[in-house]
Amino acid sequence: MIDLHTHTFFSDGELIPSELVRRLEVMGYRAVSITDHADSSNLDFIVPRIAQVSEELNRAQSVKVVPGVELTHVPPSLIGSMVTMARELGAALVVVHGESPVEPVAEGTNQAALEAGADILAHPGLISSEQAALAAEKGVLLEVSGRSGHCFANGHVARVATETGARLVINSDAHGPYDLMTESFAARVVEGAGLPKGSLQELLSNALTLLGKIGYPL
Ligand SMILES: [Zn+2]
Ligand SMILES: [Zn+2]
Repeated sequence: MIDLHTHTFFSDGELIPSELVRRLEVMGYRAVSITDHADSSNLDFIVPRIAQVSEELNRAQSVKVVPGVELTHVPPSLIGSMVTMARELGAALVVVHGESPVEPVAEGTNQAALEAGADILAHPGLISSEQAALAAEKGVLLEVSGRSGHCFANGHVARVATETGARLVINSDAHGPYDLMTESFAARVVEGAGLPKGSLQELLSNALTLLGKIGYPL
């Protein structure tokens, strides 16, 4: 299994990165990205620290740890420059917190994330077909979410992605140990989004392709 959207207590998660990674190692995971919530107030604090612990953990245990970040409730006009800044600070993977059906995420966030070339647009809610087509063109992965609430639009996201050729990925958006997904749970979430049985493997292979592209091949 691979999970490219997780939180630690560098934002509102419960675990220190080392425990998150250890728990995933015990579950047999191959890779994880630590993607704590950030805006310009904390980006330069958390990203270098996550990068440092990722590098250390990659020398000492079996789960490939990818330093990332989740730009969260950043006004759309600031997203482009913040994606660049996050990469400069050492984020190998940039997630943008998309227009979830359960939060007042600013309209225009999905569009700004796609234009900025984020790696993953998390829980994009009622994303339009035009935007899904742009995701396909730019190679931005759209997220099927394992998280309560954010998952309410999974069926819509899966449908527009299928219609437009956008690639999907499944992530837990875990904030605590009990949010981490087993492979069988992830398969159920994927099927519950209306995708054909067995689609989990395709979503995992999209994650693998992204890992290769950003320099963390498995
Ligand atoms: Zn959170
Ligand atoms: Zn998140």
